[in-house]
Amino acid sequence: MTDYDYDLFVIGAGSGGVRAARISAGYGARVAIAEEYRVGGTCVIRGCVPKKLLVYASHYGDEIEDAAAYGWSVEGTVRFDWKKLIEAKDREIDRLNGLYIKNLEVAGVTIMEGRATFVDAHTVDIAGRRVSAGTVLIATGATPEVPDIPGREFAITSNEAFHLPDLPRRIVVVGAGYIAVEFAGIFNGLGAETTLVVRRGQLLRGFDDDVARRLGEEYATKGIHQRFGAAPTAIEKVEGGLILHLADGSTVETDAVMFATGRRPNTRGLGLEKAGITPGPGGEVPVDLYSRTVAANIYAVGDVTDRLALTPVAIKEGHAFADTIFGGQPAVADHTDVPTAVFSQPPIGTVGLTEAEAVARFGEVDIYEAGFRAMKHTMTGRATRAYMKLIVEPRSDRVVGIHMIGDDTPEIVQALGIAVKMGATKAQFDRTVAVHPTTAEELVLMR
Ligand code: FAD
Ligand code: NDP
Repeated sequence: MTDYDYDLFVIGAGSGGVRAARISAGYGARVAIAEEYRVGGTCVIRGCVPKKLLVYASHYGDEIEDAAAYGWSVEGTVRFDWKKLIEAKDREIDRLNGLYIKNLEVAGVTIMEGRATFVDAHTVDIAGRRVSAGTVLIATGATPEVPDIPGREFAITSNEAFHLPDLPRRIVVVGAGYIAVEFAGIFNGLGAETTLVVRRGQLLRGFDDDVARRLGEEYATKGIHQRFGAAPTAIEKVEGGLILHLADGSTVETDAVMFATGRRPNTRGLGLEKAGITPGPGGEVPVDLYSRTVAANIYAVGDVTDRLALTPVAIKEGHAFADTIFGGQPAVADHTDVPTAVFSQPPIGTVGLTEAEAVARFGEVDIYEAGFRAMKHTMTGRATRAYMKLIVEPRSDRVVGIHMIGDDTPEIVQALGIAVKMGATKAQFDRTVAVHPTTAEELVLMR
């Protein structure tokens, strides 16, 4: 090991890379990490964290309106200032960026600024400097993928959405995945006229159909326009805005177009071939259960491996890698029953199999559902409704899937994730006493 400059060289200081670097250093490894943009990676700098801050910001319009139903009167004009929000968000991101740097330094990890590329399986180049390492971890994440259509240069992605100089008056969000529905909710909540352009017939493909359909209905009620079966073909810049052309010949006039059409693993130009690694068809680095690539000393974690593109998953993979290679405790990250949330409005919390997946696996399943108006909105009169679904495998009575849409469901699903992971049965849910009055109590009251 001592023949190399470092025991471990990590490419990419995001969720997975930072965790792997810190834990490995804690085991006594000599670790360096390269970052070409900002330490913290996508989640901290231009993903989960700033996104959630914008989601919070976008709730206040409705909250202020709803306050009247509870006896509050808000005097004067209520105004929203995009620039103030972005400045405040940037200060918080700078603070977190500083914390991440400090934590790496405290752990004894050497931070190298710049883009790293492979020279060979044990050597990387960072801005002309060559560094060797016994083990290399690829943790380069992913980057927004934009359809190759004329005028794509006029569009933005989530990267730029966090730094727009002004809130657009009208915006089109193309896509129907996590990022598209989250940003549609943000822009609409902040007052932009928002249109979702979706190439298939429904939002959130891959999620439970009942939850995905309900989100579409909620967005329609909120005034978010939705164009289904609509594939973008071109963007035209015209006086005063943009025109998005769709495959059916129709157009949408707008001030901004944001593509949220998926993300591609960051392997382009990384020199993987020099390390003997061939990326998969989507650009991902193929790995085994231990995150090891075909090259014996090279591992990969997080979005670059195209397993589950979620921060806690990247962190688990990075930690398991460090435990296995430098901690002497072989560990694999578990990708089953991963709870997840979509910070749409209302948000979604989900864990386990969708109904379609459960039927495909077990043939027959029992479904328990509850749809209701949350107590808060009995006074505000808002049409929004919460919905929860439990999917039970009848022979074992195990709860194999839970899907919810409604306020607080991301918070609720974290705790439910434990129950599902432990193999909880419907009878055990039924034996649990409700917490009243809450939204979550419905989960133990369904019969
Ligand atoms: P990243 O965090 O992307 O880190 C990779 C790092 O490598 C980057 O900093 C990059 O600059 C750097 N890099 C790349 N190539 C090189 C190179 N050659 N040399 C040096 N450095 C390099 N997940 C959730 O769980 N919850 C959420 O709410 C959530 N919201 C999201 C919202 C948005 C808008 C986006 C885009 C993503 C969101 N995600 C969310 C996903 C989450 O951000 C990712 O799954 C997570 O960041 C992946 O971590 P990673 O370590 O694999 O990569
Ligand atoms: P997703 O893969 O979730 O969604 C991509 C969307 O773009 C799909 O609706 C897809 O449609 C559509 N699409 C793809 N290509 C085109 C095209 N050429 N024209 C029109 N539409 C197209 O990717 P996201 O970018 O939303 O997010 C990436 C990942 O980041 C997520 O999968 C998630 O793992 C993670 N993330 C997690 C969050 C969270 O935990 N809350 C938040 C944000 C991101 P179709 O369905 O038809 O294929």
